[in-house]
Amino acid sequence: MVLRPGFEPGSSTFLQSQVERPIYLTGLYESFFTQLTILPEHRAEPFCQRINRFRDIDSCKNATYKRASVYSMNMLFDLFQSVKVIDLSHEIKEGMTVYIGDPAPKIKRVKTIDKNGVNLSKVIMGVHNGTHVDSPFHFIKNGITADEIPIERFLGKALTIDFSDKEAGSGISLTDLKKYEDKIDEGIIVLLYTGISKHWNEEWSRSKFTYLSKEAAEWLADKNVKGVGIDCLSIEKFGSKNGEVHKALLKKNIFIIESLNSSLEQLVGKEAMLFCLPIYLKGTDGAPARVIGLVEN
Ligand SMILES: [Zn+2]
Repeated sequence: MVLRPGFEPGSSTFLQSQVERPIYLTGLYESFFTQLTILPEHRAEPFCQRINRFRDIDSCKNATYKRASVYSMNMLFDLFQSVKVIDLSHEIKEGMTVYIGDPAPKIKRVKTIDKNGVNLSKVIMGVHNGTHVDSPFHFIKNGITADEIPIERFLGKALTIDFSDKEAGSGISLTDLKKYEDKIDEGIIVLLYTGISKHWNEEWSRSKFTYLSKEAAEWLADKNVKGVGIDCLSIEKFGSKNGEVHKALLKKNIFIIESLNSSLEQLVGKEAMLFCLPIYLKGTDGAPARVIGLVEN
């Protein structure tokens, strides 16, 4: 991604763009995610400490961060006040829809305020229950695990494509996808809206869902997208034995998000910023995630 010409923070275009929201928002995404430099030694810092670092311009001058990051951070705060947050995650609960054959969540209250002075729950669930991320280790023997995917990869500009006119149970072909070729930039997160999520609680949707074809997955992998998400139980045709769609993406460390909810429809045709935050599980093939999309308010 390249900064919009003339969009340098402080420039007249920048100031003007605060009035012209659409341009402003694009600029915010681009500025923040291209200029923000987090040095490896600061990765472990608590977020509040990082914020203080941003506020301390002198420490930025000391080359800890690029000076531009100060502006970027201010723009990020501004961004959160000017966008609508759309929750793309399913709630995790007992009896929820899960992929056929997967373990289902069991949630138990093990302490209560009445008896123990505190409410405390225990959860046992599959890592592919609900909205979740698949990591390369899911299909690749020596692939990286969910915790090993750098968290920065899960944040970024998302393109949501509407495939809800496809018949349930059919595949999204390379021809279907190529129609959007000019919008599928390197590093983007591609979200496939199939509409199957509107039938999340209907038994048929557990097997007759729209999926990504192998050719389309390989093409996306060649495009070097960051991640691919879909609003059904799997990105792969139900019953597929070889996992070729998963493998095409995961072998290039392109993460997969499965079981996005039907609110994904609200991102269709809009410029959106995706935040996909998988829980920090050590050594797993996937992880449940809270996924939100930010769109123009
Ligand atoms: Zn999965």
